Amino acid sequence: MGYDIVYRDATVYDGSGSAAITADVAVGGDRIAEVGTVSGPSGRDVDATGLALTPGFIDVHTHDDFAAMLHPDMAFKSLGGVTTCIVGNCGMGVAPRDTAWKLGESFHPGATPPEYDGFAGYFEVLDEQPPGVNIGVLAGHGTIRLEAMGTEPAAPTPPQMAAMKSLLGEAVEAGVLGLSTGLVYEPGRHATTDELIELASELTGTGCLYATHMRDEGVGLLDSISEALTIGRAADIPVQISHHKANGRTAWGLVQQSLALIDDARAAGQVVHADQYPYTAGSTILSAAVQWLEPGTGLEPSDLVIASCAAHPSWEGRSIDAVAAELDCDPRQAAAAVLVEEPNTTVVIHSMDEDDVRTVMAHPSTMIGSDGLPTLHAKPHPRLSNTFARVLGHYARELGVFDTAEAVHRMTGMSADAFGLVDRGRVRAGAFADLVLFDEATVVDRATYADPLRMPTGISEVVVNGTVVASEGVHTGARPGRGLRRAAT
Ligand SMILES: [Zn+2]
Repeated sequence: MGYDIVYRDATVYDGSGSAAITADVAVGGDRIAEVGTVSGPSGRDVDATGLALTPGFIDVHTHDDFAAMLHPDMAFKSLGGVTTCIVGNCGMGVAPRDTAWKLGESFHPGATPPEYDGFAGYFEVLDEQPPGVNIGVLAGHGTIRLEAMGTEPAAPTPPQMAAMKSLLGEAVEAGVLGLSTGLVYEPGRHATTDELIELASELTGTGCLYATHMRDEGVGLLDSISEALTIGRAADIPVQISHHKANGRTAWGLVQQSLALIDDARAAGQVVHADQYPYTAGSTILSAAVQWLEPGTGLEPSDLVIASCAAHPSWEGRSIDAVAAELDCDPRQAAAAVLVEEPNTTVVIHSMDEDDVRTVMAHPSTMIGSDGLPTLHAKPHPRLSNTFARVLGHYARELGVFDTAEAVHRMTGMSADAFGLVDRGRVRAGAFADLVLFDEATVVDRATYADPLRMPTGISEVVVNGTVVASEGVHTGARPGRGLRRAAT
């Protein structure tokens, strides 16, 4: 019996950050069987001469909680080389299901996800109706808080805190990888640092991390970083700064200091990482973005562009000032009118400085995460499907922010280690066969804000758990993904 697949003479980046070696890589079942010189027959021999073979990309920051069920082939991720998505970011988690859907339906208007019972039930759905990529899960503080106490701005009462802890305990038991917060969103923004310390402390010793969309990514960035570090230290768990950036012209350049705070914490022994998407525009729900229409934020109404608006699709792709001109009102009134018509409107926000993006990317604490919003029916931010190809093609190859080995590390081995994904993120015998074969001379993003669902080019083949899910830009329809429950510590 030979191996199922052998990639011959590939340029292998193993995910550790080490330089490439030329080797054969054999796949048997769902694992990598051998790396080196592989002799003998195989089910399928692939001449990989001149092509890079790397671990599958791990998208550590996604909002694919429900996309994994509603668009289960996950082609919009696989065609960009992603083999694992971490869901439950920014405080928006998967359970309790009905409450989770209240926050998640913004991205899936009119859809009905399956019923399931709690975090364990979510994993069971993944077991029974597997998606095309692997799914790791964070518990969302916003969802848990909404379940326990509605939208109350107050501090939780003791019974409400107990209810939140109980839900978080259930999440940990089911196998989540950590707790996320979204401290600009309802209802997460009402949480004090003390509330978050008390909840994060439930995770001490479990191997879970604390991932945070911080309270202020503008001029308050440094205070926000300090709050995240304080919570991580108090609970003695790793910190993951979500989509590290400085938002708004008045805050540009602050990333030098936020990175210095991270350096100081790491030098003192704290485990701190960040994730980043490779664009100068962000994307979120309009209801959370209207703050940028206030004077003095360093952004203009033309910087906010409607990405999805199910009730009024002709506004998609248009800026708030254009909508204001159409409605003959001022931009804040226009945003309010849009929200009346479609409360789930999402926007792209052109808010960042290119130098800051490169500075954050070059820093050793930063891994890659798309933060893509899976609004496939509309004009999602191009980061959704093109993030990894853009880092490899534009930032590594064209701009030289780092070399290919380091770029691959930041999207594979580093990410697997930080999130505790066992036997993922490495090309080595015995690891799961999550693999990407691509041409490092040509791989590049193709999506634009106007045409955001164009898939990247240069990616030849994508393998999840030993099964080919994408070949030459075409999804095979295979759905070999798994729910990745946290390994016992
Ligand atoms: Zn976020």
